[in-house]
Amino acid sequence: MQHLTNRAKPVDRKPMTALEKLYLWNIAKGMWITLKHIFKRKATINFPEQRREFSPVFRGLQVLNRDAEGRENCTACGLCAVACPAEAITMEAAERQPGEEHLYREEKYAAKYEINMLRCIFCGLCEEACPKDAVYLSETFAPSNYQRKGFIYGKEDLLIPHPKLEPEAYQQALGTRAKRQEKASSN
Ligand code: SF4
Ligand code: SF4
Repeated sequence: MQHLTNRAKPVDRKPMTALEKLYLWNIAKGMWITLKHIFKRKATINFPEQRREFSPVFRGLQVLNRDAEGRENCTACGLCAVACPAEAITMEAAERQPGEEHLYREEKYAAKYEINMLRCIFCGLCEEACPKDAVYLSETFAPSNYQRKGFIYGKEDLLIPHPKLEPEAYQQALGTRAKRQEKASSN
């Protein structure tokens, strides 16, 4: 018979020896494996109290960015939606009204901006397509949810905290991006 891989093992049907019938040998073998792992570095961590450092190229949950004044960067041009291979982004554009200059940086803004996380493949093409530095993939991931609608992220879920009203939350949301921005501006 021809096998697809060489991993298949024929079943051993030999009668058990007296030692094997006692099962003590197998228990001792199992205990020895456990003992060996006690002195090894743990493969697990106490999440969420402890968190692993992400790779600098990790692409996680999208964030809609604001400028230093806290205004939304997005101008609802739709380039991210066009670039998205999974057709995960939906948006509706609106005109900025007089008096709204402190809210939106450009004359047009996204009144609705949604990403379907069940479709998203975290490729980062939306970030690359954006001419306004308005969307980027952060170092966190979409938490699990029991309902499909819980994976449709709207503006309220995606917008970064206001840098002036919630500076700590803003810095936390920026993550290592803040350090990279500092480095880039100093060069
Ligand atoms: S990361 Fe890729 S799949 Fe996800 S929304 Fe952006 S372009 Fe679409
Ligand atoms: S996130 Fe960027 S690419 Fe997408 S609509 Fe807004 S400005 Fe355009």
